[in-house]
Amino acid sequence: MTGFDDIKGRKPLKNQLKKLIDKGRISHGYIFEGPKGSGKKLIADAFAELLFCYNQKGLETCKTCKGCTGYKEKYVLETEKSISVDDIRSLVADTELMPFGNNRKIYIIHDADTMTDQAQNAFLKTLEEPPPYAFFMLTVTNSEQIIDTIRSRCIILYTGVNTKQEVLEYLEQNNPDADTKSIYAAACFAEGCIGRAAGLINDQSFIQCRKTAVDYITKSQQDFDIKDLKGDVLVFLEILQSLFRDMLVYKATNDSSNLINTDISDIIKRTAERNSSKSLLIAFNSAMKASEYIKDNVSQSIAIGTLNIELMEELNIW
Ligand SMILES: [Zn+2]
Repeated sequence: MTGFDDIKGRKPLKNQLKKLIDKGRISHGYIFEGPKGSGKKLIADAFAELLFCYNQKGLETCKTCKGCTGYKEKYVLETEKSISVDDIRSLVADTELMPFGNNRKIYIIHDADTMTDQAQNAFLKTLEEPPPYAFFMLTVTNSEQIIDTIRSRCIILYTGVNTKQEVLEYLEQNNPDADTKSIYAAACFAEGCIGRAAGLINDQSFIQCRKTAVDYITKSQQDFDIKDLKGDVLVFLEILQSLFRDMLVYKATNDSSNLINTDISDIIKRTAERNSSKSLLIAFNSAMKASEYIKDNVSQSIAIGTLNIELMEELNIW
Protein backbone atom coordinates (compact mmCIF):
# COMPACT_ATOMS: atom_id res chain seq x y z
CA MET A 1 0.00 0.00 0.00
CA THR A 2 1.55 3.23 -1.13
CA GLY A 3 0.70 6.60 0.31
CA PHE A 4 1.97 10.06 -0.52
CA ASP A 5 4.22 9.82 2.56
CA ASP A 6 6.23 7.21 0.66
CA ILE A 7 6.77 9.52 -2.30
CA LYS A 8 9.79 11.75 -1.99
CA GLY A 9 9.67 15.42 -2.97
CA ARG A 10 7.21 16.41 -5.72
CA LYS A 11 5.91 19.46 -3.88
CA PRO A 12 4.23 21.07 -6.93
CA LEU A 13 2.27 17.89 -7.75
CA LYS A 14 1.33 17.30 -4.11
CA ASN A 15 0.15 20.90 -3.71
CA GLN A 16 -1.92 20.66 -6.85
CA LEU A 17 -3.54 17.41 -5.71
CA LYS A 18 -4.21 18.84 -2.26
CA LYS A 19 -5.96 21.83 -3.82
CA LEU A 20 -8.13 19.57 -6.00
CA ILE A 21 -9.16 17.50 -2.99
CA ASP A 22 -9.75 20.51 -0.70
CA LYS A 23 -11.98 22.09 -3.30
CA GLY A 24 -13.81 18.80 -3.81
CA ARG A 25 -12.82 18.80 -7.48
CA ILE A 26 -13.05 15.09 -8.00
CA SER A 27 -13.10 14.06 -11.63
CA HIS A 28 -13.71 10.66 -13.19
CA GLY A 29 -10.54 10.92 -15.24
CA TYR A 30 -6.94 11.78 -14.40
CA ILE A 31 -3.85 11.76 -16.57
CA PHE A 32 -0.51 11.52 -14.78
CA GLU A 33 2.18 12.68 -17.19
CA GLY A 34 5.91 12.34 -16.56
CA PRO A 35 9.13 10.79 -17.90
CA LYS A 36 9.82 7.06 -17.77
CA GLY A 37 10.99 5.89 -14.37
CA SER A 38 9.69 8.99 -12.60
CA GLY A 39 7.31 7.14 -10.27
CA LYS A 40 3.99 7.53 -12.07
CA LYS A 41 2.86 4.09 -10.86
CA LEU A 42 3.51 4.95 -7.23
CA ILE A 43 1.69 8.24 -7.63
CA ALA A 44 -1.34 6.61 -9.27
CA ASP A 45 -1.41 3.98 -6.50
CA ALA A 46 -1.20 6.61 -3.78
CA PHE A 47 -3.96 8.62 -5.40
CA ALA A 48 -6.12 5.50 -5.71
CA GLU A 49 -5.72 4.93 -1.94
CA LEU A 50 -6.95 8.49 -1.36
CA LEU A 51 -10.01 7.99 -3.54
CA PHE A 52 -10.89 4.78 -1.70
CA CYS A 53 -10.79 6.50 1.71
CA TYR A 54 -14.04 8.04 3.02
CA ASN A 55 -12.32 10.50 5.37
CA GLN A 56 -9.17 11.63 3.60
CA LYS A 57 -7.55 14.79 4.92
CA GLY A 58 -5.39 16.52 2.36
CA LEU A 59 -3.15 13.78 1.00
CA GLU A 60 -3.60 11.47 3.98
CA THR A 61 -5.93 8.53 4.28
CA CYS A 62 -7.54 7.77 7.66
CA LYS A 63 -6.40 4.10 7.51
CA THR A 64 -9.41 3.04 9.60
CA CYS A 65 -12.56 3.59 7.53
CA LYS A 66 -14.34 0.89 5.54
CA GLY A 67 -12.80 2.29 2.37
CA CYS A 68 -9.26 2.00 3.74
CA THR A 69 -9.57 -1.39 5.39
CA GLY A 70 -12.10 -3.15 3.16
CA TYR A 71 -11.74 -4.80 -0.22
CA LYS A 72 -10.54 -2.35 -2.86
CA GLU A 73 -11.59 -2.86 -6.42
CA LYS A 74 -8.65 -1.72 -8.42
CA TYR A 75 -8.26 -2.78 -12.04
CA VAL A 76 -4.77 -2.24 -13.43
CA LEU A 77 -4.21 -2.44 -17.17
CA GLU A 78 -0.59 -2.84 -18.15
CA THR A 79 0.68 -4.54 -21.27
CA GLU A 80 4.07 -5.29 -22.76
CA LYS A 81 3.08 -3.91 -26.15
CA SER A 82 0.60 -1.22 -27.15
CA ILE A 83 -2.84 -1.28 -25.54
CA SER A 84 -5.35 -2.84 -27.92
CA VAL A 85 -9.05 -2.31 -28.34
CA ASP A 86 -9.59 -5.77 -26.82
CA ASP A 87 -7.70 -4.75 -23.69
CA ILE A 88 -9.99 -1.73 -23.39
CA ARG A 89 -13.12 -3.79 -24.09
CA SER A 90 -12.25 -6.08 -21.14
CA LEU A 91 -11.80 -3.04 -18.94
CA VAL A 92 -15.06 -1.48 -20.13
CA ALA A 93 -16.90 -4.78 -19.48
CA ASP A 94 -15.63 -4.64 -15.89
CA THR A 95 -16.93 -1.09 -15.42
CA GLU A 96 -20.44 -2.40 -16.10
CA LEU A 97 -20.33 -4.57 -12.97
CA MET A 98 -21.45 -2.81 -9.81
CA PRO A 99 -18.83 -2.55 -7.06
CA PHE A 100 -19.34 -4.68 -3.99
CA GLY A 101 -16.60 -3.94 -1.45
CA ASN A 102 -16.04 -0.23 -1.71
CA ASN A 103 -18.38 2.26 -3.28
CA ARG A 104 -15.75 3.09 -5.87
CA LYS A 105 -13.92 1.17 -8.55
CA ILE A 106 -10.62 2.49 -9.77
CA TYR A 107 -9.12 1.77 -13.16
CA ILE A 108 -5.46 2.47 -13.79
CA ILE A 109 -4.19 2.32 -17.36
CA HIS A 110 -0.39 2.38 -17.45
CA ASP A 111 1.38 3.76 -20.52
CA ALA A 112 -2.00 4.86 -21.83
CA ASP A 113 -0.22 6.79 -24.58
CA THR A 114 0.37 3.39 -26.23
CA MET A 115 -3.39 2.88 -26.72
CA THR A 116 -4.19 2.37 -30.39
CA ASP A 117 -6.65 4.85 -31.98
CA GLN A 118 -9.34 2.20 -31.84
CA ALA A 119 -8.61 1.57 -28.16
CA GLN A 120 -8.75 5.29 -27.39
CA ASN A 121 -12.11 5.64 -29.11
CA ALA A 122 -13.50 2.64 -27.24
CA PHE A 123 -12.26 4.12 -23.95
CA LEU A 124 -13.69 7.55 -24.78
CA LYS A 125 -17.24 6.17 -24.87
CA THR A 126 -16.93 5.00 -21.25
CA LEU A 127 -15.26 8.21 -20.14
CA GLU A 128 -18.06 10.27 -21.70
CA GLU A 129 -20.65 8.60 -19.49
CA PRO A 130 -18.79 6.90 -16.67
CA PRO A 131 -20.72 4.90 -14.08
CA PRO A 132 -20.83 7.05 -10.90
CA TYR A 133 -18.55 4.62 -9.06
CA ALA A 134 -15.80 4.39 -11.74
CA PHE A 135 -12.62 6.48 -11.69
CA PHE A 136 -9.91 6.30 -14.31
CA MET A 137 -6.23 7.12 -14.03
CA LEU A 138 -3.98 7.13 -17.06
CA THR A 139 -0.22 7.25 -16.75
CA VAL A 140 1.57 8.62 -19.82
CA THR A 141 4.98 9.79 -20.94
CA ASN A 142 3.46 12.12 -23.50
CA SER A 143 -0.13 13.29 -23.12
CA GLU A 144 -0.14 14.62 -26.67
CA GLN A 145 -0.51 11.03 -27.84
CA ILE A 146 -3.92 10.97 -26.20
CA ILE A 147 -6.85 12.22 -28.28
CA ASP A 148 -8.22 15.67 -27.35
CA THR A 149 -11.65 14.30 -26.51
CA ILE A 150 -10.15 12.11 -23.78
CA ARG A 151 -7.77 14.79 -22.55
CA SER A 152 -10.54 17.37 -22.22
CA ARG A 153 -12.45 15.01 -19.89
CA CYS A 154 -9.47 14.40 -17.62
CA ILE A 155 -7.51 16.46 -15.15
CA ILE A 156 -3.94 16.41 -16.44
CA LEU A 157 -1.27 16.39 -13.73
CA TYR A 158 2.45 16.66 -14.37
CA THR A 159 4.20 14.30 -11.99
CA GLY A 160 7.51 16.15 -12.19
CA VAL A 161 10.79 14.55 -11.19
CA ASN A 162 12.93 14.41 -8.07
CA THR A 163 15.91 16.58 -7.29
CA LYS A 164 19.35 15.05 -7.65
CA GLN A 165 19.68 15.14 -3.87
CA GLU A 166 16.46 13.15 -3.41
CA VAL A 167 17.62 10.58 -5.96
CA LEU A 168 20.97 10.31 -4.15
CA GLU A 169 19.29 9.78 -0.78
CA TYR A 170 17.01 7.14 -2.23
CA LEU A 171 19.95 5.27 -3.80
CA GLU A 172 22.01 5.45 -0.61
CA GLN A 173 19.16 4.08 1.50
CA ASN A 174 18.32 1.26 -0.89
CA ASN A 175 21.78 0.23 -2.06
CA PRO A 176 23.92 -0.10 1.06
CA ASP A 177 26.50 -2.20 -0.80
CA ALA A 178 26.98 0.08 -3.79
CA ASP A 179 30.07 2.27 -3.96
CA THR A 180 29.74 6.05 -3.81
CA LYS A 181 30.96 6.56 -7.38
CA SER A 182 28.31 4.26 -8.89
CA ILE A 183 25.61 5.88 -6.76
CA TYR A 184 26.67 9.30 -7.90
CA ALA A 185 26.90 8.34 -11.57
CA ALA A 186 23.42 6.77 -11.53
CA ALA A 187 21.93 9.78 -9.72
CA CYS A 188 23.56 12.17 -12.18
CA PHE A 189 22.35 10.38 -15.23
CA ALA A 190 18.83 9.56 -14.08
CA GLU A 191 17.67 13.16 -14.57
CA GLY A 192 15.51 13.09 -11.48
CA CYS A 193 13.85 9.73 -12.22
CA ILE A 194 14.28 7.43 -9.23
CA GLY A 195 13.08 4.40 -11.19
CA ARG A 196 15.70 5.03 -13.85
CA ALA A 197 18.42 5.56 -11.24
CA ALA A 198 17.47 2.30 -9.50
CA GLY A 199 17.90 0.48 -12.81
CA LEU A 200 21.23 2.15 -13.61
CA ILE A 201 22.92 1.53 -10.26
CA ASN A 202 23.43 -2.16 -10.91
CA ASP A 203 23.72 -1.89 -14.65
CA GLN A 204 27.32 -2.88 -15.39
CA SER A 205 26.87 -1.90 -19.04
CA PHE A 206 25.96 1.66 -18.02
CA ILE A 207 28.87 1.91 -15.58
CA GLN A 208 31.34 0.69 -18.21
CA CYS A 209 29.90 2.93 -20.93
CA ARG A 210 30.20 5.99 -18.74
CA LYS A 211 33.79 5.20 -17.81
CA THR A 212 34.62 4.73 -21.50
CA ALA A 213 32.83 7.96 -22.47
CA VAL A 214 34.82 9.97 -19.91
CA ASP A 215 38.06 8.39 -21.20
CA TYR A 216 36.94 9.17 -24.71
CA ILE A 217 36.67 12.91 -24.10
CA THR A 218 39.91 13.09 -22.15
CA LYS A 219 42.17 10.94 -24.32
CA SER A 220 42.83 10.81 -28.03
CA GLN A 221 39.78 9.54 -29.90
CA GLN A 222 42.15 8.05 -32.43
CA ASP A 223 42.84 5.15 -30.09
CA PHE A 224 39.22 4.31 -29.54
CA ASP A 225 37.95 1.10 -31.08
CA ILE A 226 34.27 0.30 -30.71
CA LYS A 227 35.21 -3.37 -30.21
CA ASP A 228 36.70 -2.40 -26.84
CA LEU A 229 33.42 -0.99 -25.56
CA LYS A 230 31.95 -3.19 -22.84
CA GLY A 231 28.36 -2.07 -23.12
CA ASP A 232 25.66 -0.75 -25.38
CA VAL A 233 26.94 1.64 -28.02
CA LEU A 234 23.73 3.71 -27.93
CA VAL A 235 24.07 4.19 -24.17
CA PHE A 236 27.71 5.19 -24.72
CA LEU A 237 26.62 7.80 -27.28
CA GLU A 238 23.85 9.08 -25.04
CA ILE A 239 26.37 9.58 -22.24
CA LEU A 240 28.75 11.29 -24.65
CA GLN A 241 25.98 13.71 -25.66
CA SER A 242 25.31 14.46 -21.99
CA LEU A 243 29.00 15.31 -21.52
CA PHE A 244 29.05 17.72 -24.48
CA ARG A 245 25.72 19.18 -23.40
CA ASP A 246 27.24 19.82 -19.94
CA MET A 247 30.27 21.54 -21.47
CA LEU A 248 27.98 23.80 -23.50
CA VAL A 249 25.91 24.62 -20.40
CA TYR A 250 29.05 25.35 -18.40
CA LYS A 251 30.41 27.59 -21.15
CA ALA A 252 27.17 29.53 -21.40
CA THR A 253 26.58 29.95 -17.66
CA ASN A 254 29.96 29.49 -15.96
CA ASP A 255 28.03 27.55 -13.38
CA SER A 256 28.45 23.85 -12.66
CA SER A 257 25.27 23.41 -10.61
CA ASN A 258 23.11 22.67 -13.64
CA LEU A 259 25.28 19.90 -15.02
CA ILE A 260 24.03 16.34 -15.46
CA ASN A 261 27.50 14.94 -14.70
CA THR A 262 28.23 16.95 -11.57
CA ASP A 263 30.51 14.28 -10.13
CA ILE A 264 33.05 14.97 -12.87
CA SER A 265 32.52 18.73 -13.11
CA ASP A 266 36.31 19.27 -13.04
CA ILE A 267 36.73 17.32 -16.30
CA ILE A 268 33.71 19.10 -17.84
CA LYS A 269 35.13 22.52 -16.92
CA ARG A 270 38.63 21.73 -18.15
CA THR A 271 37.46 20.40 -21.51
CA ALA A 272 34.92 23.22 -21.91
CA GLU A 273 37.60 25.84 -21.30
CA ARG A 274 39.84 24.38 -24.00
CA ASN A 275 37.15 24.38 -26.69
CA SER A 276 34.89 26.91 -28.34
CA SER A 277 31.11 26.64 -28.03
CA LYS A 278 31.02 26.10 -31.78
CA SER A 279 33.34 23.07 -31.54
CA LEU A 280 31.38 21.63 -28.62
CA LEU A 281 28.13 22.01 -30.50
CA ILE A 282 29.64 20.23 -33.50
CA ALA A 283 30.85 17.46 -31.17
CA PHE A 284 27.39 17.14 -29.60
CA ASN A 285 25.76 16.94 -33.03
CA SER A 286 28.33 14.40 -34.25
CA ALA A 287 27.54 12.12 -31.30
CA MET A 288 23.83 12.51 -31.97
CA LYS A 289 24.34 11.78 -35.67
CA ALA A 290 26.35 8.64 -34.86
CA SER A 291 23.52 7.30 -32.76
CA GLU A 292 20.99 8.04 -35.53
CA TYR A 293 23.21 6.21 -38.03
CA ILE A 294 23.36 3.17 -35.78
CA LYS A 295 19.59 3.21 -35.28
CA ASP A 296 19.33 3.30 -39.10
CA ASN A 297 21.49 0.14 -39.24
CA VAL A 298 24.76 1.73 -40.36
CA SER A 299 27.56 -0.49 -39.02
CA GLN A 300 28.81 0.53 -35.59
CA SER A 301 32.43 0.64 -36.69
CA ILE A 302 31.63 3.05 -39.55
CA ALA A 303 29.47 5.28 -37.35
CA ILE A 304 32.04 5.42 -34.55
CA GLY A 305 34.96 5.70 -37.00
CA THR A 306 33.30 8.78 -38.53
CA LEU A 307 32.69 10.21 -35.06
CA ASN A 308 36.36 9.65 -34.11
CA ILE A 309 37.53 11.62 -37.15
CA GLU A 310 35.04 14.45 -36.64
CA LEU A 311 35.95 14.84 -32.97
CA MET A 312 39.70 14.67 -33.58
CA GLU A 313 39.36 17.55 -36.01
CA GLU A 314 37.15 19.58 -33.75
CA LEU A 315 38.22 19.05 -30.15
CA ASN A 316 41.24 20.16 -28.17
CA ILE A 317 41.69 17.65 -25.44
CA TRP A 318 45.23 18.17 -24.32
ZN1 LIG B 1 -10.06 5.92 5.25
